[in-house]
Amino acid sequence: MSDDVPVVGVVGGGQLARMLHQAAISLGVQVVVLDPDPECSAALAGARRVDGTWTSADDLVAFARSGVDVVTFDHELSAPEDLLALEAQSPVPVRPAPATKLAAQDKLHARRTFAALGLAVPAFAEVATWDEVTAFASGHGWPVVLKSARGGYDGRGVWILGEGDAAEGAEVLASGGTFLAEERVAIDHELAVMVARRPSGEVRAWPPFRTTQVDGICTDVTIASPATTSEQAAVTLALDLATQLDLSGVMAVELFVTGGGDIIINEIACRPHNSGHVTMDACITGQFEQHLRAVLDLPLGDTSSIVPAAAMVNILGGASAWDASRLAAALAVEDTTLHLYGKSHRPGRKLGHVNAIATTPHEALHHARAVADALGSA
Ligand code: ADP
Repeated sequence: MSDDVPVVGVVGGGQLARMLHQAAISLGVQVVVLDPDPECSAALAGARRVDGTWTSADDLVAFARSGVDVVTFDHELSAPEDLLALEAQSPVPVRPAPATKLAAQDKLHARRTFAALGLAVPAFAEVATWDEVTAFASGHGWPVVLKSARGGYDGRGVWILGEGDAAEGAEVLASGGTFLAEERVAIDHELAVMVARRPSGEVRAWPPFRTTQVDGICTDVTIASPATTSEQAAVTLALDLATQLDLSGVMAVELFVTGGGDIIINEIACRPHNSGHVTMDACITGQFEQHLRAVLDLPLGDTSSIVPAAAMVNILGGASAWDASRLAAALAVEDTTLHLYGKSHRPGRKLGHVNAIATTPHEALHHARAVADALGSA
């Protein structure tokens, strides 16, 4: 550790880095971000910023050499090749390691890794032409879920295509990159399990969350106990996966649950995640504090829920920016905690989230939505 204060270097200064900085203050830890934008969300909240970009291997290496004790990440946007260069030249640990992160960055690699570990995944195949998509559909049926292996998020990079969508499909496939075709799973509901692992091996999971996606974007999350059988199985799966992937830090495991209760793994994110924001106010240790503990190889905190039920709703920019009276109306809703990211208003932009606690998930969601509605959230 440099001096007495551990310094965590975070690649990217977005809202996740901002909330890592917030958690670092109570732990007596310092967060420094690598970001080209002086007005990035974390810098606006007072985190020290090193100027540079995550798309340059040189900047990543210089950041690792700038006096930080460990390098971790706000996002998945650095190229895997640049992360390997960083790992090779960094004088401090890179957590999670690039080999672990690849399963979060490349959907084809992820599917193959999960299948090799014996986990249930949707049927999939690498495809490069519409003929190959058609051949896949002859075995698995239409529609087919076409995905870009890299670079997708919030539903960008996912297309649900029918037999008649040859022109659109061919256009997507011609746009460059690697693609996979997947069977369309009959999803009953989606779950996310957040887990944490520190390099010396300790693992912990939070109670599982039910997540709702609209057009590929997570809109709300509820947490409830006791967990159902499927949810308990999902937690076991996520804990095992953290160890198998040699995770250091926190990880979100996103799962599909079928009507029959089968659990199918969709994807992972090896960092604090939108679906875990609810832990900030509903659990003894939130995901941001836990990520700092994990990457510094400190004892992990208790992940137990401290409330009967809780929910999180994202605040997206509405048609116009909110004024003081709308903010006052939002803050008047009981049993809620508002987290804003200091970002300027743009319709549809993720500007913050609200956590709510209650005696049932339904009631918590109702309170959280009232706050989002007061702010005109899209
Ligand atoms: P992103 O990386 O953009 O979040 P995902 O692969 O998680 O993309 O897909 C976004 C959403 O699309 C999922 O949460 C789910 O609702 C839906 N989806 C993705 N893959 C499938 C599939 N094979 N079958 C059915 N729905 C899917």
